[in-house]
Amino acid sequence: MITGKTRVCGIIGDPIEHTLSPAMQNAAFTGKGLDYVYLPFRVPAGQLEKAVQGLRALDFAGVNVTIPHKVAVMPLLDEIDGLAEYIGAVNTIVNRNGVLKGYNTDAAGFYEALVAGHITIPQKKIVVLGAGGAARAIAFILADKRAKLTILNRTPGSAEAIARLIFKALRVEVKTGELTDKNLKSSLVEADILVNTTSLGMSPRTSDTPVPAALLSKDQVVVDIIYNPWQTRLLKEAGQKGSSVISGLEMLVRQGTAAFELWTGVKAPVDIMRKAVEEALKKNEE
Ligand code: NAP
Repeated sequence: MITGKTRVCGIIGDPIEHTLSPAMQNAAFTGKGLDYVYLPFRVPAGQLEKAVQGLRALDFAGVNVTIPHKVAVMPLLDEIDGLAEYIGAVNTIVNRNGVLKGYNTDAAGFYEALVAGHITIPQKKIVVLGAGGAARAIAFILADKRAKLTILNRTPGSAEAIARLIFKALRVEVKTGELTDKNLKSSLVEADILVNTTSLGMSPRTSDTPVPAALLSKDQVVVDIIYNPWQTRLLKEAGQKGSSVISGLEMLVRQGTAAFELWTGVKAPVDIMRKAVEEALKKNEE
């Protein structure tokens, strides 16, 4: 029930109709008996500054930030958390008495998904496919945890830019290359973990995959950060080879638990949140 004391959270982005976060966060608030509500707000690029001013004026507890605002929102905030500053993107804002601070829970969400899958990172050889916004957060956290990283991307210059950023911040060397079958073959031979951060395989183009099945082997853990569908062609084919697989759904849930804990200071109900996302995804697919 909404009361006069209800704290308001939400998500700002454009488009926003397909977001699963309201289902996930409202289930969590209800599950924990918290007087909070979470709403979607479509904010076109030209309205971002006013929307951020509105968060202060309307005393929001906080919001998530999604495409296309994760970078553009940074100069509009009062403070930026160190990790978000390094990554160069914010996906969560917390309002503490009118002071807006930006965080990046995508990185922590990805890391927590691996931890939940009992995967250790230090010294592991990890091949990351893609060099977009999500790859930036993921490569950064993996390098910070001392993985040996290779980034392959259709546009190799974007992978090189991430490698330069990581070297500047952490003094960790990252190998890069173009996303070709030849480069995949040579880097996967010795890889412990493969992470897909490209949008290849995402709904509606679910028959796409970034890696030919012949190049997969049971010796690699395969992580796909796509959550729609929750089991991509890549994960299906890796599973058929006998690999352990982790779906993007787990990262989505874990970035949400991190945001929930920043806003409320209460431990997030992860199982309730996962169930809510699974049900919302099923509804979206119907
Ligand atoms: P983005 O910034 O637009 O990056 C897209 C990446 O995919 C780029 O590396 C791009 O390569 C590559 N790509 C796109 N089409 C391709 C194609 N036909 N062939 C080869 N590479 C292609 O997007 P993002 O924000 O990083 O998101 C990427 C995916 O991750 C999306 O599916 C998104 O839903 C998912 N995601 C999941 C979570 C989660 O919580 N599970 C969080 C964030 C994102 P170029 O650089 O060459 O264009």
